[in-house]
Amino acid sequence: MKFKNFPMVPRVVFGRGSFDQLNEILLPKRRNDKAPFIFLIDDVFENNPEIISRIPLIFDDQIIFISSDTEPKTVQVDALVSRINEAFDEKPSGIIGIGGGTLLDLAKAVAIMLNNKGTADQYQGWDLVKKDAVYHVGIPTISGTGAEVSRTTVLTGPVMKLGINSDYTPFDQVLLDPELTAGVPKHQWFYTGMDCYIHCIESLNGTYLNAFSQSYGEKSYELCKEVFYDQSLDEEMSRDKLMMASWHGGMSIAYSQVGVAHAMSYGLSYVLGTHHGEGNCIVFDHLEEFYPDGVKLFKAMKDIHEIELAKGLCAALTDADFDTMIRVSMGMVPLWENALGKDWQQVITPEKLRGMYEKM
Ligand code: NAD
Ligand code: ZN
Repeated sequence: MKFKNFPMVPRVVFGRGSFDQLNEILLPKRRNDKAPFIFLIDDVFENNPEIISRIPLIFDDQIIFISSDTEPKTVQVDALVSRINEAFDEKPSGIIGIGGGTLLDLAKAVAIMLNNKGTADQYQGWDLVKKDAVYHVGIPTISGTGAEVSRTTVLTGPVMKLGINSDYTPFDQVLLDPELTAGVPKHQWFYTGMDCYIHCIESLNGTYLNAFSQSYGEKSYELCKEVFYDQSLDEEMSRDKLMMASWHGGMSIAYSQVGVAHAMSYGLSYVLGTHHGEGNCIVFDHLEEFYPDGVKLFKAMKDIHEIELAKGLCAALTDADFDTMIRVSMGMVPLWENALGKDWQQVITPEKLRGMYEKM
């Protein structure tokens, strides 16, 4: 097929306090009293009655609290699927992910693997999933990744950090309640928000750019700038707008790709476990060569919000570590191609990447 035929999230609710509508949304999707809803929730909310008391549990519905200290792994998805299969006779009526990109991606992957044989790592790649996922709902509690709209779920597997990209990955329902993002710590707000900003810069400056991606990318860029640079918004408006920036940023890369910062930050994450948003910031700070204007504005926003990025991350790495990092990064072919064109390997060599990583 020359032009991709993309699925999109078919239903979305937006609004402050819309979380209270979750019960009404789920009710028609319950198959019977033996087919539970499983809520995968970031454990940062475990002792937060403000959120937990509003989860509409009935019958055998279950909450599973999950830490986002480490980003999702294929083995973690497999373990969750086994646990759910062992606990219930019937397939769940649905999987609801509540949290940041980590929890949203876990919910997508678990929903896929409940209906597909084998292990999650067998589906890392493009269009390998054969059967529809279990009904799944995404409820972001921090804005930026675009995981709520995307067609991928990024997992670290035995050989690669790579997404399950498929038509079955996107959520069946998303609930956007900006109030859920009120408690995000400032540095994390910046890192995950900058993930969105970097999606825009990489999409808008890529060779894959087209009017579809550009329209979403420009809107998202504008919203990010209002939130992080102009700072003319009150807190509530700022949360509303960042949530929509994330949505548009995610839509922008649906029909294009990300670029250099993501390709390099995947390597950092694979070897050092650096989290996505923070890793992207650390890398992007050094990418003037590729994105001069984008990096200039990034540095200005970093100064405004007094964010100190980690330094010397790669100082103690061995040659073998660097080789793995470079292998993972150079494996992200579509990202490099988007950033630099078909001849990207004339610019990006293992030596060049090593030199760049050594500065981080
Ligand atoms: P995250 O989900 O890892 O969460 C970051 C931190 O914020 C955690 O400590 C979490 O507990 C905390 N947090 C979240 N909501 C909070 C709240 N309301 N109050 C207080 N603390 C809160 O961070 P992220 O940046 O949203 O997600 C990163 C993950 O998303 C990575 O695994 C990355 O690979 C993935 N990702 C996926 C896509 C996609 O399209 N599928 C795109 C980009 C990134
Ligand atoms: Zn990203």
